[in-house]
Amino acid sequence: MNIFSFRAHFGTEDDCRLHFKEQRDKEGVTCKKCGGSSHYWLQKKWSYECKSCHFRTSLRSGTIMESSKLPFLVWYKTMFLMSCTKKGFSTNELQKQLGMKRYEPVWAMVHKLRKAMGNRDAKYTLEGMVELDEGYFSVASKEIERGKGTRGRGAEGKQNVAVMAESTSYVDISHLVELHVTEKSDAKTTKETLKWVHIAISNAKRTLLGNYHKIKRKYLQLYLNEFIYKLNRRYFGDKLFDRLVIANITGA
Ligand SMILES: [Zn+2]
Repeated sequence: MNIFSFRAHFGTEDDCRLHFKEQRDKEGVTCKKCGGSSHYWLQKKWSYECKSCHFRTSLRSGTIMESSKLPFLVWYKTMFLMSCTKKGFSTNELQKQLGMKRYEPVWAMVHKLRKAMGNRDAKYTLEGMVELDEGYFSVASKEIERGKGTRGRGAEGKQNVAVMAESTSYVDISHLVELHVTEKSDAKTTKETLKWVHIAISNAKRTLLGNYHKIKRKYLQLYLNEFIYKLNRRYFGDKLFDRLVIANITGA
């Protein structure tokens, strides 16, 4: 989906709500009170009503938008922007694009989406031969995290991250697995056997470095969630946006 077809499909708040409802209906709604899955739709209240206990579930309830006051349109624009490029946007840039006055609500929305992306990916397990290594990512130093700015030296910390990838090479590495887990791999294994995991690590570093300034250690996982989510769905093309809407519904 490009910006023009997005505008054509999602020009108004109601366009977004109706689309969201369609997707939610496909995924199914579960009553929080009795666990029932049959509901009436109350159009005027934009809510579902449980057929057995009459408990009401708003369109947002149970999704990652549950406690958000932002319009559906803002969420949809954000999901579009986050899914339309491989690289992604900083929250500052998103705030600018959305024309929002305050930074905090945008920040909270983006991080909820990143969390949902991680939750979606957590539902899948890697199969077959799995490559494993670790990468060191630059993060803001502890001083900066505590709000005490430091410049130059000491402004940066390192966080190691374990990275796993399904191997697409046909080399039998089963006898080497112990070695990979316990020792640093030499240059040759790095180049050949751990090819995919290293491509992922270096691409992730480049993306994070290019887009964001001094990521805090405690948020690194969320930034990686977005990167990995998109990497795993790199052949989805236009469907990435639709998948992100479903992550919004089921990734809470
Ligand atoms: Zn019920």
